[in-house]
Amino acid sequence: MHELSLVAELVESCELHAAGRPVSAVRVRCGDLIDGAELAIAFEELAVGTVLVGAALEIERVPTVLSCSCGFAGPVEAEHSGGHVALCPGCAEVRAVEEVLELVALRVADPKVSPPA
Ligand SMILES: [Zn+2]
Repeated sequence: MHELSLVAELVESCELHAAGRPVSAVRVRCGDLIDGAELAIAFEELAVGTVLVGAALEIERVPTVLSCSCGFAGPVEAEHSGGHVALCPGCAEVRAVEEVLELVALRVADPKVSPPA
């Protein structure tokens, strides 16, 4: 499952920011090609044994952007994509797209901390 490696990185950076404090919620920015359900499952699995166990995952959807060698740069429609490749609307070539999964904010018991912007 592809989401697993993205979530593994996310969990790692959350642990870094939490610095041992229990986390109640994690807010992430997530590319719209990522399967939200799989993301939630992966997060729940990887949170076990960390300060993130039981934390709520709040997902902020952002468009997945494709930059192509033909000069096209813009958001990719889900219907033009499959997994982490997409059809370029400019030249109709299949291109790899970079999936976004980044930490926006962590809510810890007290005090509230946010990762640097
Ligand atoms: Zn193109």
